[in-house]
Amino acid sequence: TEELLRKSDKLKVVGQLAAAVAHEIRNPLTALKGFVKLLQTQNADPKLPYLGIIQEELSRIEFISSELLVLAKPQVSRVADVDVREVLEQTIMLLATQAVMNNIEIRHCAADEQAYISGDGNQLKQVFVNLLKNAIEASSPGCSIEVAIERSEGELRIRFADQGCGMPEEMVKRLGEPFYTTKEKGTGLGYMVMRRIIESHHGRLAISSRQGDGTTVEVILPTRLPDQPPQQVPAI
Ligand code: ADP
Ligand code: MG
Repeated sequence: TEELLRKSDKLKVVGQLAAAVAHEIRNPLTALKGFVKLLQTQNADPKLPYLGIIQEELSRIEFISSELLVLAKPQVSRVADVDVREVLEQTIMLLATQAVMNNIEIRHCAADEQAYISGDGNQLKQVFVNLLKNAIEASSPGCSIEVAIERSEGELRIRFADQGCGMPEEMVKRLGEPFYTTKEKGTGLGYMVMRRIIESHHGRLAISSRQGDGTTVEVILPTRLPDQPPQQVPAI
């Protein structure tokens, strides 16, 4: 476990550094985006198709830095009662178009029981979006993804099961390493950010996957946070 701890300490430092850099990048980025937009509106010259590419790439940098910034935020920023069913429904709505476009069916087994936890709804949504997006990206056309909530003693289990490409064990072990991705347009930050958010909600992830056989990821969250004030991460 000592080895594991050291590894997670290192990841924390890497995360905070990355977040600091992301923070510094944001202001000049906003200015750049504004000026490109200005050029696009003032310059209707069709010979300037590169402006669109510049705009797109700037948006990508913006997306990556916003992912990194989560790592520097206080652990649980706004604690409230969160209706997990609602957050999950919003997540599915957000990604429905992407699923339809790829001919992937999202099957949602709606829980009829209430499913509340105390935590930060926006952060949770970010976790669910990441997991559902990963499931869609791993699936081929015609596949389906099952999303379900289960309740057990003091815990909620939110499950995302896909029939996609799956992962070998070595790969599952690497999930959460910064910038670890197999996708051309991936950031490899999804799992790092998710782990951080879930940790701050005193939850855990259960991942089972087999290459060629699909992946099931469960987010397991305590229905109530322990009686302690949310820990703050030092601001950078
Ligand atoms: P990204 O999605 O940007 O690549 P993630 O941290 O979300 O970063 O995922 C890291 C890698 O883990 C992915 O590039 C992919 O290879 C693998 N992965 C994640 N989720 C799944 C899944 N549901 N099925 C198969 N592979 C997955
Ligand atoms: Mg991802």
